[in-house]
Amino acid sequence: MLNILKNDTIIVIKGKEKGKKGKVLKVFPEKGKIIVEGLNLIKKHTKKRRQQDQAGIIEKEGPISISNVAVNCSKCKKGVRIGIKRENKKLVRFCRTCNQGF
Ligand SMILES: [Zn+2]
Repeated sequence: MLNILKNDTIIVIKGKEKGKKGKVLKVFPEKGKIIVEGLNLIKKHTKKRRQQDQAGIIEKEGPISISNVAVNCSKCKKGVRIGIKRENKKLVRFCRTCNQGF
């Protein structure tokens, strides 16, 4: 189980977008990367395939390394370290600062 899952809100803790928040759209566990809504936008050239398509440049979210983000705890109101524990035979995530479950 990963510390970060889809739909989590994360805070960037390293890099040029440090301090920004966003919702996790996609997780790539084997690469250790995530896609976050509105963050790390990269420009992509699009080709015009059909008449109604717009040719040109679109902005798309690029992958961010998991090590550059922290999960936002709604109680602590900051990026926190996440722990994983076994509860009733189920793995649950919790905030290491306030113990709140996720
Ligand atoms: Zn917390």
